[in-house]
Amino acid sequence: RAKADIGRAVCFYESRMDEAARARHTLAQDLHRAVELDQLELHYQVQTSVISGEICGYEVLARWNHPEYGQVPPSEFIPIAEESGTILMIGEWVLRTACRQAASWDRPNKIAVNLSPVQFAHADLAKLIHSILLETGLSPARLELEITESTIIADKSRTLHVLRQIRTLGVTIAIDDFGTGYSSLETLRSFPFDKIKLDRSFMSEVERSIQAKAIVRAVLALGKSLEIPVLAEGVETNHQLEILRTEGCDEAQGFFLGRPKPVGQIFQPDHAADDGLGSSFSGRIPPV
Ligand code: C2E
Ligand code: MG
Ligand code: MG
Ligand code: MG
Repeated sequence: RAKADIGRAVCFYESRMDEAARARHTLAQDLHRAVELDQLELHYQVQTSVISGEICGYEVLARWNHPEYGQVPPSEFIPIAEESGTILMIGEWVLRTACRQAASWDRPNKIAVNLSPVQFAHADLAKLIHSILLETGLSPARLELEITESTIIADKSRTLHVLRQIRTLGVTIAIDDFGTGYSSLETLRSFPFDKIKLDRSFMSEVERSIQAKAIVRAVLALGKSLEIPVLAEGVETNHQLEILRTEGCDEAQGFFLGRPKPVGQIFQPDHAADDGLGSSFSGRIPPV
């Protein structure tokens, strides 16, 4: 009897596994068609100077509007896209669309586009970026690319080679999620990054934990001595921003400064972009 129960349990477990695998497979297939079906969208999140509050740039964040599941977060679909290779097509679409949109703005702000390690492994990335810049007319100085430590670790010599090629175009490179990988310091030694993006896990702790604050200080000191500006990710409160100001951080990004927004809304203040509640701030005359 016990044996039969175990048998049933295993069966149940396996069918659940199948279900998860099937769901992933379906998502991967849907994702493959997402670009041509126009289901992908770019959101932009502002990056500001800590001292002046001036806008430095906008990070480009991909969104997938799935017809059945609604908005699938990138933390779910990017890994699936990387596994299935679709990230090459999606990554190219993100780059081209972001460059085209930014080129049409009447302000000269930079855009920061995330790159996957897979994009470094396969395509002739520098050549692709070069042709997209020519095609869209975006000045290379307005494009920043964000990579993570995992990209460097995947194939160090090749990645460094491609990064140097990209730099030659006049495009800048930021190291993303800094401080969470296995070899953050080694990463900084291997390439002269243009920006360090301190992972948001440090911000969420900085008010309560002296350890987190010590690490924030240390990274800021490192940035100063290497002459690399530091941007703090995940700033959600004014108090966190004040700490960053006191500690001499260069730039900040986070919900407190602005949420990621669709391209049509990025130049509007946050409250006006919200639902009806914010309309009283927008200066529009309310309907009678
Ligand atoms: P990331 O590059 O580190 O992007 C920052 C993430 O933090 C975004 O999540 C953003 O919405 C979120 N965030 C910003 N401010 C705050 C805050 O104050 N508090 C909290 N809790 N979160 C904040 P998102 O948009 O879900 O993207 C997640 C990750 O997916 C990104 O992390 C990036 O690694 C990846 N990703 C997004 N778009 C792309 C893309 O086009 N290509 C590639 N390869 N990866 C992408
Ligand atoms: Mg990023
Ligand atoms: Mg990040
Ligand atoms: Mg991240």
